[in-house]
Amino acid sequence: MRLSCLLVGKAHAEAAKIMRPGVTTMEINNLVHTFILDHGGIPSFLNYGGFPAATCISVNDEVVHGFPKNVPLKDADIISLDIGILKNGFHGDSAYTYAIGEVSEAVKKLLKVTKASLYVGIDKARKGNRIGDIAYAIQEYTEQKHGYGVVRELVGHGLGKQLHEDPQVPNYGKRGTKEKLKEGMVLAIEPMINMGTREVEFLKDGWTVLTKDRKPSAHFEHDVCITSGEPDILSSFAELEAAEKANPNLTWCHD
Ligand code: MG
Ligand code: MG
Repeated sequence: MRLSCLLVGKAHAEAAKIMRPGVTTMEINNLVHTFILDHGGIPSFLNYGGFPAATCISVNDEVVHGFPKNVPLKDADIISLDIGILKNGFHGDSAYTYAIGEVSEAVKKLLKVTKASLYVGIDKARKGNRIGDIAYAIQEYTEQKHGYGVVRELVGHGLGKQLHEDPQVPNYGKRGTKEKLKEGMVLAIEPMINMGTREVEFLKDGWTVLTKDRKPSAHFEHDVCITSGEPDILSSFAELEAAEKANPNLTWCHD
């Protein structure tokens, strides 16, 4: 599983290298698709329930499950890229939101807080804790502390031979509730956080989820294995973050 998860991070890094105003999300998708095939993987999302592409690319007020399009990115867009790869029988699944060109301080803060909330959640991914402990930690940090909207309609999930396995991992909930975490479980933890209200709408394409108030939304996702000790993050942002920092057309929004 770790190999699949790490390959997802490498695919992200390749995508981050070409992000700039003018590039289309279809070009980014096609680059990632080719990268996956060249590395012996299968794109997990392509044809999943009829999804038409290798990646989900959701821009600005699109929360998740956006289709790649032949529309060029513009200065101040944010782009949530979600990549899944099946290799050697196991899936990796990781998402990251990038800021194209100059973005507002408010957008920078949304990205920074959403990524930080992922690690707040991961810190609760420990043997003996419950799913509700992860869920509550993310909600408390983003909603109570920062006043953002936590999307309810979509949640994280178990991961393994299937892309989506039990248990569901919501980004909202009560401490001490739901499934107990056991050693060896792998969870895709993925806060989807709206700058405005939590309400979303589903586009008629059957997939794209967007914010009802049309304010931006951010999405960060890691795959985490429960161990007897520290949470083991199987996916990695190291290479994509290096690419992000090296790309003058992307804004680094984090500490
Ligand atoms: Mg994902
Ligand atoms: Mg996922």
